[in-house]
Amino acid sequence: MDHSKPAAAADHTLNPQPDIAAWPDTVAFRRRRHDMVRQQIIARGIRNAPLIRAMARLPRHLFTRPEDCDLAYDDMALPSDQGQTISQPMMVAVMTAQLDVRPGQRILEIGTGTGYQTAILAMLCGQVYTVEYVPQLAREAQARLHRLGFGNIYYCIGDGSNGWDAHSPYDRILVTAGAAMVPEPLIQQLVDGGKMIIPVGNQTTQVLQIIERKGKKITTADILDCRFVPLLGKHGWH
Ligand code: SAH
Repeated sequence: MDHSKPAAAADHTLNPQPDIAAWPDTVAFRRRRHDMVRQQIIARGIRNAPLIRAMARLPRHLFTRPEDCDLAYDDMALPSDQGQTISQPMMVAVMTAQLDVRPGQRILEIGTGTGYQTAILAMLCGQVYTVEYVPQLAREAQARLHRLGFGNIYYCIGDGSNGWDAHSPYDRILVTAGAAMVPEPLIQQLVDGGKMIIPVGNQTTQVLQIIERKGKKITTADILDCRFVPLLGKHGWH
């Protein structure tokens, strides 16, 4: 009996969603969040309704350092612990919209960081598999996302430049750190017809690229210039 196919099909109908009403929030934060979505996301051309809804619901102030929570809805990346960053809201929106995330999909994310982008993906797809190199960041993100009630996220501490072979292939792969080249294992772990989004360049500036796999053919398109922290590891910066 083939166990893998029916299990995958059943997973797609599950997609456990968190109890959004139970999330800690305030009227002031909610107002700022809706302004963020109107002024930074919709006004700049993002039209993906489920993504807009997810960004309007997810309290970004729970992902910043406590001392930065008043800046959570501003138009910028913010520092997180361990010298890393939480991406600018518009960058999260562009990456997620370009990736064309659909319900039921299985997504690999490299660079969990604070877990903000992870949570947005988890609200839109079937399952998120997320890999983080820095153990303390991974543990904090996992605890935070668990507190928020996400049940469709799987965590790995390790070198995500190798992907996460055990659960491959993935419908979509999102990389939130910059590499000199697209790591070969990530291409191998993409389904036929799958898409990946990844910043490619040097250690300070990159171009956000969308990569599509169709059979043996790989197509690449540039989206915009960006600035991410370096992707470390075997297929990243050593
Ligand atoms: N999306 C995150 C931002 C992540 S910043 C957020 O919204 O909070 C990039 C993250 O990639 C950092 O946490 C960094 O530790 C991680 N990273 C860098 N190289 C990595 C690798 N090889 N594997 C997994 N994570 C990596």
